[in-house]
Amino acid sequence: MGNKSVSTADIIRKRALDLAFDACGITRAEFLGEDAARLEDWLRRDMHAGMKYMERHIDKRADPSLLVPGAKSVISVLLNYYPKEAQTEGGPMIAKYAYGRDYHFVMKEKLLKLLEFVRSEFGRVEGRVFVDSAPVLERALAVKAGLGWIGKNTMLISRKHGSFVFIGEIICDLELPDEEYDEPRAENYCGTCTRCLEACPVGALVKPYLLDSNRCISYLTIEKKGNIPSEFKGKLAGNLFGCDVCQDVCPWNGNPKPTRVEEFAPTGKLLAMSQDDWRALDRDEFGSMFSGSAVSRAGYDKTKDNLDSL
Ligand code: SF4
Ligand code: SF4
Repeated sequence: MGNKSVSTADIIRKRALDLAFDACGITRAEFLGEDAARLEDWLRRDMHAGMKYMERHIDKRADPSLLVPGAKSVISVLLNYYPKEAQTEGGPMIAKYAYGRDYHFVMKEKLLKLLEFVRSEFGRVEGRVFVDSAPVLERALAVKAGLGWIGKNTMLISRKHGSFVFIGEIICDLELPDEEYDEPRAENYCGTCTRCLEACPVGALVKPYLLDSNRCISYLTIEKKGNIPSEFKGKLAGNLFGCDVCQDVCPWNGNPKPTRVEEFAPTGKLLAMSQDDWRALDRDEFGSMFSGSAVSRAGYDKTKDNLDSL
């Protein structure tokens, strides 16, 4: 029995898992027609609220090969961030993805190591790494790479890892033989479940697969400039920064494995902070507690306003 040769894709996937990514799939860098049309429809309905930047570079969002000249492949990865210890209800809630060090840094460092590896193994490869940082349809690319499906809560869901995962990708000009590319798994395992739609505290999931950011607590508490509109006062379900409700109730997150990334462990006494502790936090303390954390993206003033809206 001869040795089966190891494919280029297998070598890259194995290295990705060695770098502690939880999943890796590789797809062609090509036009995402259907996904781009869905995005345009969503934008037309003004569901992106104040995130006007989403209207820019539609062409690049639709076609990853426009982001890296000559791009042939997209290496998509998932990284589980479910914390070892989750906040219990009581104090103002922080979305789990923001407990520890800002994921943009962590993901970027790992992706750059993966890109370095690809170059060391396969010679000159032009490529760029992306984490939520450029016009990339990350969820669509992850689906195309066979890593999961888009749930009714609009999140990417992996059968094995649930939805508490960061998504990142390398877009590069390394071309693989046809048979080595991953295929999308067409199945959508939401079935007849509607838990996320029923659980959303503000009705932001207006119908399956349709999120209205104007109502979404994640948008209101992080991205929205200025104060939270008065109609949402007292309706944030205790969420101070982001919102995990539609993921917490999802059966695919029913048995979460804790992340292997130590840097995602909570900052200081974050999990135990009461509403009074948050109120007592001054600007300097906020700055030192959350430097290098995604919470600093909302900023001190916004966090204080969020607190008043709880
Ligand atoms: S993140 Fe929260 S507010 Fe937004 S859709 Fe999910 S449950 Fe609703
Ligand atoms: S809660 Fe149910 S409907 Fe919503 S994303 Fe999860 S499986 Fe799909």
